[in-house]
Order: sequence, then C-alpha cells, then structure tokens
Amino acid sequence: MKCPRCMTENGNRTICSKCGYFMYRVANQNVEKRSNTQRALDDAKIAGKSFWRIFRIVWIIIVIIVMSFWLLALMMWLTGGQVVLGQ
Ligand SMILES: [Zn+2]
Repeated sequence: MKCPRCMTENGNRTICSKCGYFMYRVANQNVEKRSNTQRALDDAKIAGKSFWRIFRIVWIIIVIIVMSFWLLALMMWLTGGQVVLGQ
C-alpha cells in the first residue's frame, strides 16, 4: 500500500514506515465513504447495544438470585427451617 501523505510504498504495512501515517483508516474511509462523525456514532451505537445486552443478562441473574433468596427465606419462615435443613 502506498502512503497517501509521503507516497512511500509500504507493502502490507498499515502504518507508513517513513512518516508513521496510519493508512488503514484512510483505506476504510475510501471503501465505506463514511465520515469520522458517522463512524463514531455507529461505534457508540454498537457499544451501547452490547452494553444493554450484557446489562440485561446481569439483571436477569440478579433477579433470579434475589427471587431464589426470597423463596428460600419464605420456605424457612413457613417450615421453621425444617425443609431447607432436611430434618
Ligand atoms: Zn508516509
């Protein structure tokens, strides 16, 4: 790949060996024709989506733990600990 800044041929390198220019970003922009602002918005959207997915799973786990705790507490209260302790 040729560096767009200093026109040095860099082969398969993504960062220019002469001036240190990051060429991968430029190549991506040419293909996708998207601005940095759009890209940042898309990245934020993807990050937000995965955050909510993880948050939802964590929330379900917390609910299950709390529910089972209260069920156990209810069982203990109803039986005086007999069922849970197996006596
Ligand atoms: Zn360069």
